Amino acid sequence: MAVFGQPVAGNPTQYMMEKAFAHLGIDWRYLTLEVAPETLGDAIRGMRAMGFRGCNLTIPHKVVVIQYLDRTSEAATLMGAVNTVNRVGKELVGENTDGKGFVQSLREVTDPAGKNILILGAGGAARAIAVEVGLAGAAQLTIVNRSAARGQELVDLLNDKAKVSSRFVPWEGNVEVPPETEVVINATSIGLGDADARVPLAVQTLEPDMVVADVVFNPPETRLLRDAKQRGCKTLDGLGMLVNQAVIAFKIWTGRDANAEIMRDALEEFLGF
Ligand code: NDP
Repeated sequence: MAVFGQPVAGNPTQYMMEKAFAHLGIDWRYLTLEVAPETLGDAIRGMRAMGFRGCNLTIPHKVVVIQYLDRTSEAATLMGAVNTVNRVGKELVGENTDGKGFVQSLREVTDPAGKNILILGAGGAARAIAVEVGLAGAAQLTIVNRSAARGQELVDLLNDKAKVSSRFVPWEGNVEVPPETEVVINATSIGLGDADARVPLAVQTLEPDMVVADVVFNPPETRLLRDAKQRGCKTLDGLGMLVNQAVIAFKIWTGRDANAEIMRDALEEFLGF
């Protein structure tokens, strides 16, 4: 097992996976391997040759890797991005556990089915989340993004391929959250590594009955979540998404259920919380 991509100070997923393998007595390793974009094809061929069970992929490999795989799951096909590869017989199958991890985490506070959801961002995390909350039955998605082309492309994908009713709102000034919104998700990188970074959003338009989630996991208590708590909203940090995407990948590879609590503890230990 391995993660191919830019190692982020070791790798939090490696730490979680190895703790979970040890807990279940599974004698596997999970390695963090830095792979340059021009050698990704060789790395995947090497993985086949050496009998790896699978791998995770991080930026910048999630889209490009698809050409080296035999097939992709329904969700990964819709998103056009893969973060997990699994060997099935002789085939390498691309999956995407990012959005599923988010949905699993969201379900701890609310069910996305039938909900009116506003997503800030249209990058990799936003695409994965939008497709999965759509597949989980969300009623209406509003995508707010700085780059209009990227935002509109996601909305077209959601309306045309995922069959989820969606609209695009360009990000100009402070976003006003429409009162009918039930879940607000920050899926941008604003707040990553900066607990005071401000998401341009009119905080007074957040209502106490809304759930506010952030994908940023370091630091887990972002300024957006602090502001939302002050407005009386239920909040959800990015740690749950990170733990759950790993729990889901673990199940895909091993067929066994990882202990999510052990993974969460490992993650917090790794990040020094
Ligand atoms: P991408 O680079 O693919 O997308 C970044 C998004 O953030 C784009 O929509 C971009 O808008 C937007 N953005 C960035 N800066 C600004 C800004 N100053 N103002 C407005 N919009 C901005 O990144 P990812 O989607 O892969 O990652 C996004 C975040 O999600 C990261 O913080 C990452 O760590 C986190 N993440 C968390 C996971 C978890 O398990 N908790 C899993 C995966 C990711 P534009 O299109 O206009 O450039």
